[in-house]
Order: sequence, then structure tokens, then C-alpha cells
Amino acid sequence: MLNMRPLTPDLTCAFDRRAFLTGAAALGMTSLAPASGRAEAVKTSARIVIAGGGAAGLTTASRLSRRLDGADIVIVEPRAEHFYQPGFTLIGAGLKPAGYAVLRTADFIAPGVRWLQESVTELDPVASKVVTDKGTVLAYDYLVVATGLTLDYAAIEGMDRSLIGREGIASVYAGAQAAELSWQALAKFVETGGAGLFGRPATEMKCAGAPLKQTFLADDHLRRKGTRGKSEIIYNAHNPTLFSVPLVDAKVRELFARQQFKTNFSHVLTRIDPGKHIATFSTPTGPIDLKWDFINVIPPMRAPQAVRNSPLPWQSGDFAADGWIEVDKATLRHLRFSNVFGVGDVNGVPKGKTAASVKWQAPVVVDHIAGSITGKGGTEQYNGYTSCPLITRVGQAMLVEFDYNNNLTPSFPFIPPLDELWLAWVIKERALKPNYTAMLRGLA
Ligand SMILES: Cc1cc2nc3c(=O)[nH]c(=O)nc-3n(C[C@H](O)[C@H](O)[C@H](O)COP(=O)(O)OP(=O)(O)OC[C@H]3O[C@@H](n4cnc5c(N)ncnc54)[C@H](O)[C@@H]3O)c2cc1C
Repeated sequence: MLNMRPLTPDLTCAFDRRAFLTGAAALGMTSLAPASGRAEAVKTSARIVIAGGGAAGLTTASRLSRRLDGADIVIVEPRAEHFYQPGFTLIGAGLKPAGYAVLRTADFIAPGVRWLQESVTELDPVASKVVTDKGTVLAYDYLVVATGLTLDYAAIEGMDRSLIGREGIASVYAGAQAAELSWQALAKFVETGGAGLFGRPATEMKCAGAPLKQTFLADDHLRRKGTRGKSEIIYNAHNPTLFSVPLVDAKVRELFARQQFKTNFSHVLTRIDPGKHIATFSTPTGPIDLKWDFINVIPPMRAPQAVRNSPLPWQSGDFAADGWIEVDKATLRHLRFSNVFGVGDVNGVPKGKTAASVKWQAPVVVDHIAGSITGKGGTEQYNGYTSCPLITRVGQAMLVEFDYNNNLTPSFPFIPPLDELWLAWVIKERALKPNYTAMLRGLA
């Protein structure tokens, strides 16, 4: 029973209109026309190293391989499996199996691009070279840093990845299997009800909407099962807000009140005691303990060690402590090393830690590399576009999209961003994955 997906929503209508929606999403939200247009390929023998072959690395390599003719493009990526991470939330809610989020890196390496299945251990932008765990030294003319981020579970005392799925502990961020184990923990909680603890880390994080979606989905499961009445849902926000965009924050507060969630502000998870089911939070007035029957643990997130150990992170300011790299927020070019660019989660920019952001970032980086090679310079700019289909129950979501200035930037004029809609749910549940894989191939 636990591994079944009992709450598959009634998507009869979704199937009827699926082709239309998939096409609409492809053309609207993710605009199939490349942001940089169809420029003629630039002839070059430039050596380009892409550190990391996840969403950002694969997308950038695919686009570079079409934009440049003759370049030596190498992706350094240790993993044969590629995770479609937006699927983790659906797996963690019992709506998809673990395999839904597991793809093969090899299927997305563009023709002509070399894949070195190793890890970058040293980034040396002074000597313009990277070194891998197997001792390979790659000299480059251009470096694209696309290593994503690391999950720092060790920063929460008592927490370990092996606890996921046990003792009422869920954590979908750790991967597809972890997401399925998280569903098992949630399914048990749904049977019995009790105290459910939710929240987010105090660091920058990818998909900052995920902690909210998971809270709404747990609430929905409890209501459908009839155990919501004997449950308490407690959301621990890391600061005085629920979302960094004020308009969205106001809407989420309204929805949290409607769903009768208890919200604690400025509560950051620092310790768990899995035996006693007690979580400790730091608060402005000192540590407090909360008891859980179910806890959704989302760890602090930082730049990977190889990046943190390099000269690439910000040296001061908000992004320095966790090692996010120092790029210009519009061109994504490194501010001190002009032949280095960043794409994806690793960038020290105020927004943009989503796959949807990668879609708009990669063309900018490709444009500036091509412009640097031709000597004409690049013109494309990234405006901070970030998208978060905020699920509020099974079969319903808000398609929240915004930019650096906290403006809402809806792709579809006919989808109000702060309305809970079946259409937005279908985009998340049906259209996003084909769009994502098209993006990896440089086609979206
Ligand atoms: C639960 C969850 C829900 C999400 N929901 C959404 C959503 O609904 N919509 C959305 O747009 N986005 C969503 N995202 C965010 C999205 O998945 C990420 O923002 C996106 O994957 C970022 O791409 P990236 O390439 O920067 O990082 P990743 O895709 O994580 O790739 C980084 C790659 O770098 C590699 N790497 C790391 N260190 C090294 C090294 N030293 N050497 C070589 N390679 C290295 C890794 O193996 C990995 O393959 C979600 C993420 C999660 C976890």
C-alpha cells in the first residue's frame, strides 16, 4: 500500500487537452525560439571546459555546440545518471515512481561534445586550467562553471541521509530514491496524523517553492485520508517571510491561514534527535525544541567544495560564506576572471536557482562566449527569470514566475500567476519534463 500512488488526480480532462497544453507550455513558458536567435555558427578552435553536466552544463554544451564550429567542448561530469529534480516533489508526494526522475547523462551529450566522466577537484582561473580527481589537467580558453550546489546534511546535528524514510523523516532533495523513501514516511504519517514539521534552510536554496509545495501536498493527503483533524501542520520559516517575492509572500500567507497551518518565523533547524523525534530550531530568542511525527528536512545548500576552495566565489557580501561564484548578474560573466562564466545554481546572483532559470541563463552565456570569440562582444542579458509552479493541492497550482526586481513575469497572459489553477498543475505535472529534456538538448 505504501508504494502505491493512491492520489493520482483525476486528469481525464488533462489527457483530452494534453497535446494542446504541452504545446502551449513549450511555446509559452519556455519559448522554443532560442533567446539568442539563430545566428550563423562561429568558426573557432577555442577550448571550452564545462564543469558539471547537470541541467545547466548539458544545456550550455548543447547550445555551444550549435553556435560554434570547430570548438573543443568538454563536459566534466562524474554521474552517468541525470536527475530530473523537479520530479522529486511529485515522487515525494506519491504521485510518481522514483524512475520518473532518473535519466541518462549520455542521452543529452550533444554531438561533437566530449564527456569526461570525472570530477573537477581544482579550478585554477589564474592558470586557466581545471584538474580532476583522476589527475586529468584541462587547459581552457573559456570555463563554464555549472556544478550546481551541495546539500550540507552534516550541518544539521544528528541528521544523516540514511535516516530518510525512517522515524518520520522525509527529505526529497537527496535524490529520486530519497524522494520515494520520503513518500513512505509521509504515507505513514497520513495514516495516523500527528505533528508535521516543515520548513526551509537559512542558506540560498534551489527551488525555494518546494518546501511550500510539500507542505500543501502533505495537508492535501491528510485531508483526503480524513486525518487532518488530528494533525497539526507547523511551517518553520527561516526569516520573517514565507517567500522572497513580496506579492507571492502575501498570497502564501493567505493560503497558509486558509489551510490552518501554524507558522513560526525566524526558526532554523539546527539539530534532530531521531530517537526522541525532537527537532531543535535556532530562533531570535534562543533554541526551541519541537516534537514531530513527521518532519521534512531540507538541508543548508552551498557551492561544491571544489568551487569553494577556488578563487571563484564572492570574497565578501551575502554570497561569500557559502561559496557562490562572483558573476555579473546580467551577463553571468565572472567579475574577476573574464574567460569564466557561471550557469545554474552555483551562481552568486539574487534569484535563479531553478531549471527554468537555466533555460534563460544558458543562451546568455553562449552569446557572450561567441561574442568574445568574434571580438564583437555579447548583448544578451539575464533578468533573473525564475519559475516555480507552486502546487497547493493535487490537481492545482499557481504558476509563479518572477525576475530580479520581484516583478511577476507570467509567460501566459491567460494564466493569472497567483490563481490556483488546474492548468498550472498540468503544466507542472505533464508539460515540464518534456520541456526540460528539450532544454537539455538546446531546443527549448
Ligand atoms: C526538490 C526539487 C524541486 C525542484 N523543482 C523545480 C521546479 O519545479 N522547477 C524548476 O525550474 N526547477 C526546480 N528545481 C531546481 C532545478 O532542478 C535546479 O535548479 C537545476 O537542476 C539546476 O541546474 P544545475 O546544472 O545548476 O545543477 P544540477 O542540475 O544539480 O547539476 C549539477 C551537476 O554538477 C555535477 N557536479 C557537482 N560537482 C562537480 C564537480 N566537482 N565536478 C564535476 N561535476 C560536478 C553534479 O554531478 C551535477 O550533475 C527543483 C529542485 C529540487 C531539488
